[in-house]
Amino acid sequence: MFLSERVQKNLSGGSWIRRMFEEGIVLKKQYGEENVFDLTIGNPVMEPPVEFKRELRKLAENPSPGMHRYMQTPGYPETREAIAAQLSLDLGVKFTLDNIIMTCGTAGAVNVVMKTLINPGDEVIIFAPYFPEYIHYIANCNGVVKVLPTDEQFRLKLDAIEAAIGARTKAIFINSPNNPSGAVYSDSLLCQLGKLLQKKEAQYGTKIFIISDEVYRKIVYDGLKYFSPVGYHPQTIIVTSHSKDLALPGERIGYLAVHPDCAQCEDVVKGLTFCNRTLGFGNAPALMQHIVGRLQSVTVSVAKYQKQRDFLYAHLSEMGYSLIKPQGAFYLFPKTPLADDVAFAKELLQWKVLTVPGVDFGSAGYIRISYCVADRTLEGSLTGFRKAAQKFKTG
Ligand code: PLP
Repeated sequence: MFLSERVQKNLSGGSWIRRMFEEGIVLKKQYGEENVFDLTIGNPVMEPPVEFKRELRKLAENPSPGMHRYMQTPGYPETREAIAAQLSLDLGVKFTLDNIIMTCGTAGAVNVVMKTLINPGDEVIIFAPYFPEYIHYIANCNGVVKVLPTDEQFRLKLDAIEAAIGARTKAIFINSPNNPSGAVYSDSLLCQLGKLLQKKEAQYGTKIFIISDEVYRKIVYDGLKYFSPVGYHPQTIIVTSHSKDLALPGERIGYLAVHPDCAQCEDVVKGLTFCNRTLGFGNAPALMQHIVGRLQSVTVSVAKYQKQRDFLYAHLSEMGYSLIKPQGAFYLFPKTPLADDVAFAKELLQWKVLTVPGVDFGSAGYIRISYCVADRTLEGSLTGFRKAAQKFKTG
């Protein structure tokens, strides 16, 4: 076998997301698309806003010379300037274009950050339930993953963080609004986290980075105000994209933003720029950079997602499922009536409802439901959820 041991191991294990996705393809062929209710992945069916199409048309009709050429690795200055201005407004920290690097999505940004910061053996903290790809991104740099629990409401447990941090702790992932739980962290929690990290930095004479995954930052419900950890910890690097807020996941357009007060900020930015190049990304897609620079104040309809959340939350609650009402993102993460979440997801499969077992997110006993789908898919899934609930008597 030519494959590396790590890749072989991953291919033979396989994630439930992938298995469910493949199961979905088979079921759709067998029963027809309209009879299968695929709630597995966070791939929005919502189209990008009209402003996106307008800018795309403008560019196609009035191309500027050189717009498809290589560029400086961090990206076009005017795009980075527009992002810095909007971030400063939204988060209350003064960013300039020198703090911004355009990336191939959030995933590209995270890999660039990991490659820049992590020495083999450095520890990186994540919280269950977590976005499963983090495990691979940390492993790509031979970092050591430390998984910490959250509380019943999926909030961070500061005492667990305090106990877990040691001299080798290099970074800690914060993902709010959260995939898969939908939790949005409060101002006071993030303030306490910042204080704790600074205390630990002083204790060990180290720096501990927060990697703030803000890919769902603009998808927050009920008028709740969003707070970023960047307001409370200077060693913060934001990683994000327009995959969700402009519904452009296939375009791979994202960015990272380094806190202007980060220690050795210039070197950190130089390191990130080097890794963006040498990991092979070169630069983020040119056409998309031209466009998203002009769309920083535009977002998909959050009201539509809120309506879908309300619809599904109300129905599942009434069926007896135990679940926390998400405050952002577009996922629900109910407890499974059976302790075995994989068995429960298989039961839902009998009704052609596809979900992902919580074990993939480090939290067995739950399932993740992605509701960024068509209304008819959500409506169609209700029968399966009800039948499965009745079978295991949730109500
Ligand atoms: N981070 C989280 C928490 C996500 O949910 C996702 C995608 O679903 C990503 C990162 C990857 O986003 P991108 O498409 O911008 O790479």
